[in-house]
Amino acid sequence: MSTREQYLDAMGIPLWKLRGAVAAEPPTPVAAPAVVVAASVASEVPREVAVARAPAPAPEGAAGTGAMQWDELAAAVRACTKCGLHASRTQTVFGVGRRDAELLVIGEAPGADEDRQGEPFVGRAGQLLNAMLRAIGMPRSEVYIANILKCRPPNNRDPQPSEAAACTPYLARQIALVRPKAILAVGRIAAQWLLQTDAPIGRLRGRVVQYGEAGTPLVVTYHPAYLLRSPLAKATAWTDLCLVKDLLRKPQ
Ligand code: URA
Ligand code: SF4
Repeated sequence: MSTREQYLDAMGIPLWKLRGAVAAEPPTPVAAPAVVVAASVASEVPREVAVARAPAPAPEGAAGTGAMQWDELAAAVRACTKCGLHASRTQTVFGVGRRDAELLVIGEAPGADEDRQGEPFVGRAGQLLNAMLRAIGMPRSEVYIANILKCRPPNNRDPQPSEAAACTPYLARQIALVRPKAILAVGRIAAQWLLQTDAPIGRLRGRVVQYGEAGTPLVVTYHPAYLLRSPLAKATAWTDLCLVKDLLRKPQ
């Protein structure tokens, strides 16, 4: 098996082989992805497609956070009490990886494992995320990984909008500092918050949208925790990952 085949296998994606022939190519997206333009030209956006716009950071936070460098930003998160989640956290989960990464992965919030270890995506879902990233030639060590929320919501409940709003300046600054070539948003919560839409994830995934002022190409896919429960969706997630891989291949 080639390396790619091994990782597809690890993701649980079956490889179809022609009898007596070489290994088949992985499935490619059937339709060309729609590229969605930013809100300023919203009238041109196909009706069913979300408009991508960076959420406005909370005004008090923006002034300070927006000018911070990495160490100062990490220290600000460590000390943060801007929302109620600070009271129940074991520790904050800032983010991990290459600060000059071409790919930025954005998840929802720390779970129990992440809260304990202080690093995003270290539990079972994290293992699958690692396999997904390796499958597109982007091992975990090459990317930057962060969450919308830096503190774990009790019992892994969904983040409240007020919590996401309080925490967003940190993520906004991380995005600005990394300046990634592409963003992969994993899961409904991250996708809906980043794109400021209630559209179901099935409508947000499978395409490239331009995110924020910088117009960074962003792809939405299913959360690995969901893929663990619904393995049949892995084949669909693979088509999203292929979009990301294509974006990373493009000259800047
Ligand atoms: N799920 C997420 O969205 N983020 C993590 O860090 C872990 C699980
Ligand atoms: Fe601060 Fe974010 Fe933690 Fe809330 S979740 S306390 S805003 S770091």
